[in-house]
Amino acid sequence: MAQHMPGPWKWTDNSWAISTVYDAKWNPVAECRINSDATEDNQDEFEAQKDANARLIAAAPELLEALKEARDYVRQDLKNIGPCEHDVGHCVCGILSMLRRMEEAISKAEAR
Ligand SMILES: [Zn+2]
Repeated sequence: MAQHMPGPWKWTDNSWAISTVYDAKWNPVAECRINSDATEDNQDEFEAQKDANARLIAAAPELLEALKEARDYVRQDLKNIGPCEHDVGHCVCGILSMLRRMEEAISKAEAR
């Protein structure tokens, strides 16, 4: 499986219409464009949204690493705690559901 470009990633606001995300060596990773519904009247709002998109993409490698660490931590905790025993008031269903969401998000990022 291919690995994404090395982090940390950063981004720059190239213009009102385009922001670019770069890897640690300033290789371009992604370009974020302003919403095509932008007009002179709402440009500021959509420009801020474009930058928020670039910021989110630039944080992706760190978010992925942090999520994997959290997943491993929760997995280990669940191993130590054991399964749900609802009859004695011991429930980890919420943690299991959170773990599933973490694993789905990681799979989405890593295409497994
Ligand atoms: Zn439960």
